[in-house]
Amino acid sequence: MSPYVRAWAYVAIVASLLLGASIWGDGGVPPAVLPYLVVLFPLHVGLTAVFFKCRACGTSVFAHRPGMFGPFTPWPHRHCRKCGNDNHAG
Ligand SMILES: [Zn+2]
Repeated sequence: MSPYVRAWAYVAIVASLLLGASIWGDGGVPPAVLPYLVVLFPLHVGLTAVFFKCRACGTSVFAHRPGMFGPFTPWPHRHCRKCGNDNHAG
């Protein structure tokens, strides 16, 4: 399975957790999602940097710009932002 597909599977799991939390958690109050985002986003950045990376150069598929402190997006990029490698190939 390509890093791109695995990254999307991860996004689907996180999104369903957030959706579930907002529907069934705390009586469905939307602000209840906020603590999850505060906890999940740093986890997201850390986990994605380790598990979902470009096979050519090791950059996270969620990195919007190359570099240790570049911004990360909640969705994966099919083409590596650093070297242009197709993360869906193979
Ligand atoms: Zn790359």
